Amino acid sequence: MSKELPHLQTVRTLHRPEGTLGVVESFPDLGFGFDRFYFLTNVPEGASRGAHAHKKLRQCLICLSGSVVIDLCDSEQRYSFELSSHDQALIIPPGYWRDLRNFSGNCVVGVLASKLYDETDYIRDFDMFLEWDRQCRVVSDDVPFCPLDRYMEPRSVGRLPRDLRASVQSVLDSGYYIGGAEVAAFEEAFAGACRADHAIGVANGLEALQLCLMAAGIGPGDEVIIPAHTFIATALAVTQVGAEPVLVDVEGDTALIDVARVADAITPRTRAVIPVHLYGQPVDMDGLAGLAARRGLALIEDAAQAHGAEYKGRPCGSLGDMAAFSFYPTKNLGAVGDAGAVTTSDPARAERIRMLGNYGSKIRYQHEALGLNSRLDPIQATVLLRKLAELADWNERRRAHAARYDAGLDGLDGLATPVVRPWATPVWHVYAVQVREGRRQALQEYLRGRGIGTNIHYPTPVHRQSCYRAQDWSAGQFPVAERICAETLSLPLDPLHADDEIDRVIEAVRSFFV
Ligand SMILES: *Cc1c(COP(=O)(O)O)cnc(C)c1O
Repeated sequence: MSKELPHLQTVRTLHRPEGTLGVVESFPDLGFGFDRFYFLTNVPEGASRGAHAHKKLRQCLICLSGSVVIDLCDSEQRYSFELSSHDQALIIPPGYWRDLRNFSGNCVVGVLASKLYDETDYIRDFDMFLEWDRQCRVVSDDVPFCPLDRYMEPRSVGRLPRDLRASVQSVLDSGYYIGGAEVAAFEEAFAGACRADHAIGVANGLEALQLCLMAAGIGPGDEVIIPAHTFIATALAVTQVGAEPVLVDVEGDTALIDVARVADAITPRTRAVIPVHLYGQPVDMDGLAGLAARRGLALIEDAAQAHGAEYKGRPCGSLGDMAAFSFYPTKNLGAVGDAGAVTTSDPARAERIRMLGNYGSKIRYQHEALGLNSRLDPIQATVLLRKLAELADWNERRRAHAARYDAGLDGLDGLATPVVRPWATPVWHVYAVQVREGRRQALQEYLRGRGIGTNIHYPTPVHRQSCYRAQDWSAGQFPVAERICAETLSLPLDPLHADDEIDRVIEAVRSFFV
């Protein structure tokens, strides 16, 4: 991220016969919520105030009367501003050494500050400041794999952090911490976004899958078909309800379940199939839906990586009997802790899932089924509701980054970029390239050496996990999944990555290969 610059901003002023009113609102004028207002008066004419810098504090300075000169600098640049009227405000981001000088005798400077007074935020020694600033610049050249902290930075996401803080605060103040209006409002909005009739908030993605299986009446003695390449939760959900996961190998290019092989895996005990829209790419659902209908199988989408993805113009979450979503913080729609949801357009299923996730109870202290405690809480719901409003834009940005990678990494010998089927509108939860000839680890280390974070989704296929050693699966049984686990590398791709960060990754990957 490039360093934020100090700048002047026009203060909104209303001129009326009865006087002039200057207004600074926390947003949009300011870009940050403020915790402290203070003012400087009676500074001796021509005097200067002690110089210092702040590590995190942001300020907005307005000269209400008289005039003052503000000098700012860091290890690379100097700036000087003269404030002599109340219709301009100086925004000082964190990380600038400042000196206020040349106060006129009648000068009054008002300051809005983003934090309360905190001595540990100050740097009062100029040489220490220069050292600190240089270190920040080195770090800021890195491209983190997942820049979650940027979602609380006003410069990256505008008023979102302020809205999130305010809405969480209002849940805290309400004294109501399970269920309630926020949860209902999010469920309604999320169902709408998925074009499903119902959404039921649950505690996490694993339990969303588990509840779908329970609602379909699946348990011991039953088999459930899942892809051999997925996050472990898909398999664990099946195991947790007492059923057997049956693996089907995936397509070599998309890494999605190979729909053509599903029919061969069906036995008289098969009760359901769980397609996983892995990496944010929808599975070919029409083929599967026909098969599931003919063979009487429940069709449960694992949509934990596919919030907003579309298959032939229809959103994931509306493509099967039920769909499980996770709102783990790094997902395309992420909470500030664990959270999940089930979507369905079957009212009976919706009611049953809600009952099963609430201790098997519809009426308090009456338990009609052996349920779970798996509920969405209102703090997560209020965060998710606000973030949901941004999801379409964020997914659009992910698509733009993916297109940048596709173009920038095209034609490299030994690297395959992701393949997208014509009917898919993916949301790029992960941008996974495949690195041939055993060079994945070398590329990952090469990128790490250049400050670029990567990840591997996933290094070990389900059938090679030690938790499943009792299952009679063997090495080599699902060769495509095994090859993908050995070759896949996920590059940084987040809506809050800047274009030039993506370019830096492209540059680095290209320089590894050529
Ligand atoms: C994240 C994820 C899950 C599980 O979600 P949690 O909320 O972490 O329990 C399930 N399936 C897939 C494909 C996932 O990516």
